[in-house]
Amino acid sequence: MADNAPELSLVIPVFNEGANVDALVARLRPVLDGITSEWEVVFVDDGSRDDTLARIRAFNEADPRLRAVSFSRNFGKEIAIAAGLDHVRGRATVIMDADLQHPPEMIATFVEKWREGYAMVYGQRTDRRADSPMRRKLTQMFYRLFDAFGETPLPEGAGDFRLLDRRAVDALRQLGERARFSKGLYAWIGFPSIGVPFDVADRVGGMSKFSTRKLFRFAADGITSFSTLPLKLWTYVGALVSAFAFVTGIWFIIRTMLWGVDVPGYASLIVSVMFLAGVQLISLGVIGEYIGRIFAEVKRRPLYIVGEQVGFGEQPAVAMP
Ligand code: UDP
Ligand code: MG
Repeated sequence: MADNAPELSLVIPVFNEGANVDALVARLRPVLDGITSEWEVVFVDDGSRDDTLARIRAFNEADPRLRAVSFSRNFGKEIAIAAGLDHVRGRATVIMDADLQHPPEMIATFVEKWREGYAMVYGQRTDRRADSPMRRKLTQMFYRLFDAFGETPLPEGAGDFRLLDRRAVDALRQLGERARFSKGLYAWIGFPSIGVPFDVADRVGGMSKFSTRKLFRFAADGITSFSTLPLKLWTYVGALVSAFAFVTGIWFIIRTMLWGVDVPGYASLIVSVMFLAGVQLISLGVIGEYIGRIFAEVKRRPLYIVGEQVGFGEQPAVAMP
């Protein structure tokens, strides 16, 4: 770590946010200047296909404290955050979205709490009005599941909008897993943390960059990287079904001895065979999910590929006036 590290760094993942970055920077600048002149912003361009990077390049020419790492393709927000943390140098780092759903003014409060000694300060969304009702329902179901299965408790309403102390950043950078579920990772590393409630604003421009498919994959990553219960569950299901089969088996023997053979039973036979085939396929599918993730991990590919860097050449440490 350079000893000319800035006080405050920002990590902002951007994916086709050309419509938002101007407004974002305009609102960020006074907030950051109010905290310290030693700040830097690291945009992580997650393979945008619009003018996002061009706009950031223009910011950088005017003020080298605004920089960017640009991926060779879309790797996803979680990976973009990881890349951002690899590139910041600040004593504290704030992660936020580019669409102004995370009010920049909150950063001042985050920094205040950090100066009081908290290693992590997270924004706690007070409601999810900004999300569609369908997404809200599914999110709620996911958190119930995570609570039931997960081995790491998540703080209520905490998301990616947060401040991390240098120690927390270094800790997170040691977690090299590919299937990244940041919310879980933040909780896993520990450190004294505190939540600050905030209202999630509506997106300024464009639409959410998360398709339902992306959200489902994200949910599966979250559960599988923080719980092995789905794998072990089948042992219990299997034991239960076997016990049931054993008891009915005995009952059939007794019944045959007492009342003789009665042939009908076709329906129950088919139903039980189909039921068991279903249970077996589901459990195989669950094992497949885990094996797929193990496979992705053992390949040991780099987490991301940087296509281009903007403003990392000379690394000016301190503010340009
Ligand atoms: N984002 C990203 N890569 C993606 C999807 C999203 O870097 O594949 C960024 C996006 O540009 C934004 C942040 O992650 O800065 C949050 O995305 P979005 O607002 O679409 O998510 P939502 O608010 O719907 O959860
Ligand atoms: Mg958003």
